Amino acid sequence: MRVLTADDWLRAWEHSQTLPPPLRPCALLAPLMEDGQAAAERLPLGRRDSQLLALHGALFGSRLDATTHCPSCGERLELSLDCHALRLDAPALDESTLSVEWQGRSFRYRLPDSRDLAALTQAGDVEQARTLLLRRCVDGEMPEAPPAELQALLAQAMAEADPQAATELSLDCPACARQWDELFDIGVYLDEALGHWAERLLDQVHLLAQAYGWSEAHILALSPARRARYLARVLA
Ligand SMILES: [Zn+2]
Repeated sequence: MRVLTADDWLRAWEHSQTLPPPLRPCALLAPLMEDGQAAAERLPLGRRDSQLLALHGALFGSRLDATTHCPSCGERLELSLDCHALRLDAPALDESTLSVEWQGRSFRYRLPDSRDLAALTQAGDVEQARTLLLRRCVDGEMPEAPPAELQALLAQAMAEADPQAATELSLDCPACARQWDELFDIGVYLDEALGHWAERLLDQVHLLAQAYGWSEAHILALSPARRARYLARVLA
C-alpha cells in the first residue's frame, strides 16, 4: 500500500466534513481501504471503531486526552486514555452464523454499520430508532412492534459479535465519588483531532507560503521535520 501524505489526510478530513455525522469517520478510514468510502461505510460499527482506534495510534500516538463532566455534581474530569488499551478483542466474524432463536423461530441478522446509523437520524425517538435498526438488520419477517424480549436477544447477540460497537469507560468522580459508565465515540474524537491537526497544518502552510513564496503542494510535500525547521526560522 502506498504511503499516505499530509495532503491525503487533509483531503480525507475535508471530505469527511461534507458528510452527515454518522458517515464522517468512514471518510477517515477510506484512504486505507481498497474499496474506499463504500467499504468503510459497510464495516460493522465495532470493526470500524477498532480500526479508528488503531488509526489514532498511527497518526497521533496511543495517548488520547478527553474531558467529560460528572452527571451528579458537574465536576470536570480530564481523561487520559490509551487507544490500544481501548481496543477490544472481537470474535472472528462469520456472517452466516449470525442468528438468534426466539419462540421456535430463527432470526438471521447482520451487524449494524455506519449506513444504518445514518438512516436512524430519520427516526423520531429512541423506540422508533430501535425498531428501524432491527428492520434494516434482521432478515425475514419481524413483528410490526418487535417484543422487548426479542429486541433484547438481538441487541445482546449483536453486542457479543461486535463488542467494540459500544466502547464504555468506567468513570469515578473524585469530587463526589459517583461511579458511572460512559460511551466513548472514537469516530467523533478522531474527526475533531484531525480537524485540529488540519488547522495547525494550514497555519504552517500560510506562514511558509508568505515567507518563501512556495506553493501549497510544495509545502505539504516537505517532511514534517523539515517543515518544522523552516517554520522555526520564520518564527525566530
Ligand atoms: Zn461528581
